[in-house]
Amino acid sequence: MLYRTHFAAGLCTGFLIAAKTGGDVGPVVLASAVGALLPDIDQPRSYIGRKVPVSYGAYLVAGHRGLFHSLVGAVGIALLALVALQKWTPAHSFLWLSLAAGYLSHLALDTLNPSGVPWLWPLKLRASIPLVRTGSVWERLFVSLPLYLVVAFMAMPALKGTMLDLVRAGRNFAKVFQLRF
Ligand SMILES: [Zn+2]
Repeated sequence: MLYRTHFAAGLCTGFLIAAKTGGDVGPVVLASAVGALLPDIDQPRSYIGRKVPVSYGAYLVAGHRGLFHSLVGAVGIALLALVALQKWTPAHSFLWLSLAAGYLSHLALDTLNPSGVPWLWPLKLRASIPLVRTGSVWERLFVSLPLYLVVAFMAMPALKGTMLDLVRAGRNFAKVFQLRF
């Protein structure tokens, strides 16, 4: 799948988790979106692979759609995230869950590709429901677009809050402006 599709799925996952847990929307959604891009770290030509040089090592060691596209990889990355968050920002250590959920959304979407996903790596068995080819019109129209529409729908309350804050800030500014002149 295209990184845009994974990104949208990560955003959706984050909004769902924030809605269910009452967590702070921004960090939860961001963690899920990052988690949704991470599995393609095993592909140096992918969006995230081009940003992170370590992807060459990941590709050489694990190959594309190997370890990093499996449950073992998901658990490993989730544990790494948990350890890192506990060390650097303990108050946000719960974000490992959002990251892991985003990561799993990537594996679920890739399962819809003909090449499938080795969920049970190191077993070579690949799960595939071959409905969508990467970059195809089907992906753009029937996977990516609906996901972004759902994201827009779920982001509306947060955006509305931000807009109201901006309006309030504008009013306060106007009051100060009138007082001074
Ligand atoms: Zn992938």
